[in-house]
Amino acid sequence: MTATIPSRDDDATITTEPATSCAAPGCDRPVPRHAGRGRPAIYCSPACRPARRHTRLAVELHNPDTSPDGRPAERVWTVRLRRGTRVVVIANDLGWPSANALARELTDLLQPAKGGATD
Ligand SMILES: [Zn+2]
Repeated sequence: MTATIPSRDDDATITTEPATSCAAPGCDRPVPRHAGRGRPAIYCSPACRPARRHTRLAVELHNPDTSPDGRPAERVWTVRLRRGTRVVVIANDLGWPSANALARELTDLLQPAKGGATD
């Protein structure tokens, strides 16, 4: 599809900004304009908007499948960071108090700062 870019000669009849096409790769549908308030949309629909939920870093506490040292596996903890399908192991073979404390610190670190700072 082709987006219609009004020429200067059309200015008399078109009072809004020219239609832009969707910012998502491979999608060139026009983006609907909302008059007046808020940021202008850059995607044609929520389906084209990148899913923030899947790009957010998450802290995970995980039990290994097998114990490394004879402790019950459910008492051995791995702390991981996950973004989507990518995982980085922060620490292995922790007891629960250490794993829990580390996970809390990481979670706090990853929290968006409250009170005005933008990320
Ligand atoms: Zn789109």
